[in-house]
Amino acid sequence: MRQTNLFVTTLREAPAEAETVSHQLLLRAGYIRQLAAGVYTYMPLGRRVLRKIENIVREEMDASGAQELLMPSLQPAELWKESERYDVYGKELMKLQDRHEREFVLGPTHEEVVTTLVRDEISSYRRLPLIVYQIQTKFRDERRPRSGLLRGREFLMKDAYSFDTGWEGLDLAYEQMYNAYGRILDRCSLTYRAVQANAGAIGGKGQNHEFMALSEIGEDTVAVCSICDYAANIEQAEVHSGDAFEEQDFSGIPAPVKFHTPNQKTIQQLEQESQIKPQDIIKTLIYTDGGKNFAVLVRGDHEVNELKVQKYLGCGEIALAEYDSVQAAAGVGSGFVGPAGLSLTILVDAAVAGMAEAVTGAGEKDYHLRGVVPGRDFLLTHVGDFRNAATGDICPVCGEGKLVFHQGIEVGHVFKLGTVYSEKLGATFLDAAGRSQPMVMGCYGIGISRLLSSVAEQNHDDQGLIWPAAIAPYTVHILLMSVKDEGQREVAEALYAQLTAIGIETLLDDRDERAGVKFKDSELIGIPVALVVGKGAAEQKVEYMDRRAGTKELIDISETVARVS
Ligand code: ATP
Ligand code: MG
Ligand code: MG
Ligand code: MG
Repeated sequence: MRQTNLFVTTLREAPAEAETVSHQLLLRAGYIRQLAAGVYTYMPLGRRVLRKIENIVREEMDASGAQELLMPSLQPAELWKESERYDVYGKELMKLQDRHEREFVLGPTHEEVVTTLVRDEISSYRRLPLIVYQIQTKFRDERRPRSGLLRGREFLMKDAYSFDTGWEGLDLAYEQMYNAYGRILDRCSLTYRAVQANAGAIGGKGQNHEFMALSEIGEDTVAVCSICDYAANIEQAEVHSGDAFEEQDFSGIPAPVKFHTPNQKTIQQLEQESQIKPQDIIKTLIYTDGGKNFAVLVRGDHEVNELKVQKYLGCGEIALAEYDSVQAAAGVGSGFVGPAGLSLTILVDAAVAGMAEAVTGAGEKDYHLRGVVPGRDFLLTHVGDFRNAATGDICPVCGEGKLVFHQGIEVGHVFKLGTVYSEKLGATFLDAAGRSQPMVMGCYGIGISRLLSSVAEQNHDDQGLIWPAAIAPYTVHILLMSVKDEGQREVAEALYAQLTAIGIETLLDDRDERAGVKFKDSELIGIPVALVVGKGAAEQKVEYMDRRAGTKELIDISETVARVS
C-alpha cells in the first residue's frame, strides 16, 4: 500500500475525551474514529489489525474442532422472554420494534438463538458433541462506554457454544476452549492471566474463567497466589446502583459548590510521592457526571492518607464524606476523587462517619465540587469486594502463599453453563436408551475489538503504538525520505515491489512530506520494522529500524528481504 493512497489521517493531539493510552493512540494514529459514544468505525489500518486477530481466533477455533456459523443480530424479544432474560438483562439490552410493532432486541450475546437453533436441528445423542462459533457484532447499551474499543456499545466478539450429552463431555469442550484461548492470546503477544471468575468456587456447575489482560487501567482486580496456581477475580459483587437512583427526587437539595484546589497532583505523582503503591489502589469506584470524574479507593489508614492528600493538594480544603456504599465495599479506607486524566483531587473518606458531604472533581483542572449528591451528580457503577487485602491475604487454596493483586481487563470468558438454557428452551436429545435429556452446554466469549485495544494498551511508548508482528497492520514501513531524489525513489520503489511480490505486507510512505513528519507518523502507527531510504540509497544502503527495540542499523539493500521475512 502506498501511503499517498491510504485512507488515514494522523492527529497531533488526541481528543480530550480519550482517557486511556490505547484510546488516544488508536485515534491519533488513525485506526479508529468515533461515530457515537461507544460506537466506532475501524479505519483501514484498524480493520487490518482487527482482521488479523479475527484470523488467529478463527484458526484456533477451527483447530479445536469448532465450526463457524453466523447468527443474526436481530433477535425476536420473544426468545429472550422465553429464557427469562428479557428483564434480567436490564438496560444493557438494546430494544427495538419493527413496522408491525413486533419487539426485537439487538443481540448482546447468543445463548437464546444458538440453543433454539440446535434444539431444532439435533435430536439424537449421535450428533453430539458439537461446538459452534461466530465472529460477530454485539450490542450492549453500556452505562458508561469507555476507553474506545475497550467498552463499546457496538463491538466485535467471538462467541462459541458447546453442546454435549453429559458433564464429562462439557469438561472436555471447556478444556479445549480454555487451551485455545491461551494460544490465541499468546499469538497476540498479550500479557494475561486466566483467573477463576468466582473466587473460591472451584469446579462444579457454573465453573468459569476469565482471561485478564494485565493492565493498570483494568476495571477488574485479580488475586494471584505467590506459590500455587490459584488466581481469581476478587470482584464478587458488581453493583450497578446507578439504576437505583434514577427514580429519586432531588428537588430542594442545594447544588454542589465549586472551590479552588491548586497544586493538585496526578494519581501517578501521588503514588510516587506518597508511596501509595499501585497495588494499594483497589478499585475505580465512582464514575460521575458524563464520565468526567472518578474515585479511587486506597487501602490503609485513612488519617495517613488524608494527610498525604492535604499535603499534596496544598490547599487544606479537604472535605470528608461518608459514603455508605463505599464504606460497605471497602471497610476502612480512603478514597480520592478526581477528574479523570486531569489531576488528583479530594478525599472521600469512607471511614469517617456522620459527615454527609461528598467531594468530587469539577471536571476542570484545579477545581472541585463540594456537596455533590450520589445519583444526581454522580453515579456509583462499581463496587468491588477486596476482602481486606491490606493485611496481605493468604491464599484460600494452599493456605501458604500470599495473594498478589493486579488490575485486569477481561478479554475472554469461558463458562460451563450446564443445562440452564437447554432446559428453559427445550433443547433435548434422545440418549442411547431412548430417554430424553437436556443438552449440557458451555459458552466461550472473546472480545475481538477489546483484545485489539488491550494489546495496544500493553504495547506502546511515548511516540506511539508498537504492534506485535502477528497482528501489525503491515510488517514493513518503507520511509522514502525525499520523493524528489530520483535515486532514493528508485530504491524505495524497487524495495516496495520486491517485498510486496514475496508477500510481505508493506506500506510505502511515498508522500511529499518532511522526513520529520514521516518518522513521527511511522512511530505513531507502530509497524514493527521501518526501512529508511535516504542518503545511503546512493550506496545501496537503507536504515533498518526496529520499532520495539528502538534500534537503527545501516544495512545493504541486498540484506533487506532476509531481515524482514
Ligand atoms: P465486562 O465485565 O467487561 O462488562 P462481560 O463479563 O459483560 O464484560 P461477557 O458477557 O463475558 O462480557 O462477554 C464476553 C467478552 O466480550 C468479554 O470477555 C469481553 O472481552 C467482551 N466484551 C464484553 N462487553 C464488551 C464491551 N462493551 N465492549 C467490548 N468488548 C466487550
Ligand atoms: Mg458487561
Ligand atoms: Mg465481566
Ligand atoms: Mg464476562
